Amino acid sequence: MKTINDFNFSGKKALIRVDFNVPLDDNFQVTDDTRIQSAKSTIIKILEDGGSCILMSHLGRPKGVQNEFSLHHIIESLQDVLGVQVKFVNNCVGPKAEEAASDLKSGEILLLENLRFHEEEKSGEKNFAKQLSKLGDIYVNDAFGTAHRAHASTTIVAQFFEDKKCFGYLLAQEIESIQKVMQTGEKPVLAVLGGAKVSSKITIIENILDKVDHLIIGGGMTFTFIKAQGGSVGDSICEDDKMALALDILKQAEAKNVKIHLPVDVLAANAFSNEAETKVIDVTKIPDGWQGLDAGPKSKTNFHDVVMQCRTILWNGPLGVFEMETFANGTIELGNSIAEATKKGAFSLVGGGDSVAAVKQFGFENKVSYVSTGGGAMLESLEGKILPGIAAILE
Ligand code: AMP
Repeated sequence: MKTINDFNFSGKKALIRVDFNVPLDDNFQVTDDTRIQSAKSTIIKILEDGGSCILMSHLGRPKGVQNEFSLHHIIESLQDVLGVQVKFVNNCVGPKAEEAASDLKSGEILLLENLRFHEEEKSGEKNFAKQLSKLGDIYVNDAFGTAHRAHASTTIVAQFFEDKKCFGYLLAQEIESIQKVMQTGEKPVLAVLGGAKVSSKITIIENILDKVDHLIIGGGMTFTFIKAQGGSVGDSICEDDKMALALDILKQAEAKNVKIHLPVDVLAANAFSNEAETKVIDVTKIPDGWQGLDAGPKSKTNFHDVVMQCRTILWNGPLGVFEMETFANGTIELGNSIAEATKKGAFSLVGGGDSVAAVKQFGFENKVSYVSTGGGAMLESLEGKILPGIAAILE
């Protein structure tokens, strides 16, 4: 796996695909600069080598050129994070972009305008990718968040760089973290899958059954498994059409010697509301009019014991409706257990959608080994897919 450490960028122009798709407020101020922070080490290494950086990214979902999606809105934040002046050009291809790139000196940074102002970016058009490729000497992909898309700047452009292409630090770290869980992780390996629906996680479950020793299934997915085994789930979220599949997953797990841990009790409510009446109930005996919205106390203790036994931990999906305070405790306690196991030397990766939001909201970000920056890209990696943006560098 070639990373920026394999190149000396002295006198070279690095064309870097970053993910600066950051949230902006009504005044076009960046409200969360995490994604900019994440690209910093790659950019600084290239500048310190004596190279220059040409940064390309998308922002939002523009339809053609729309000022509200211009990347010029982020220049100030970018300069604040990097501590370096940033030049900007209001197109990502064409004579103006080529002139700005060619004028760039060692130690300088150029930010290109939003790639998605050209529809050829998303369609992965070859000639558009070729125009982008003219801007730099070495192509660096550091955008994990878009690595699952075969877009011009994330995938197609790489073919114009032969062996002069590599991963930035962020993307390399994402790949290594996934490998640690899926291939090289110290045993026992645990995956915790929560979230709303079985249907959105099936491919992940099937793929990871070959990699893990323990699988905790929590959140809304629980009830499809419980009902399939004859339990009463009341008004809990349940996909009846996935019950056969749930039973098949349990069978497969047994055959593969994977221990599945489901909640044994739940915090149930008489309405989907933070103010609802609540009670702790056996997960197989939820009466009509009640729905399980969080893990119960026995389940939390069981899950804690499993987490503490394991040396490699993947966490995807909350254990309850964590957006409501009343039902956040199962997710918080799981976060605490994973933080404790990490402190004792386990490797922990949190990734894919709402678990990342939960980890940030409850302050576990620095207490786990790695928090992935890519939602869809992470989910597809866990499904066992080779992401096109990653394949394009390895080819
Ligand atoms: P996902 O995007 O599949 O990871 O699902 C995340 C969502 O699952 C969050 O918005 C949670 O509120 C929701 N969720 C977790 N547990 C439950 C539950 N027991 N009932 C309904 N929704 C849940």
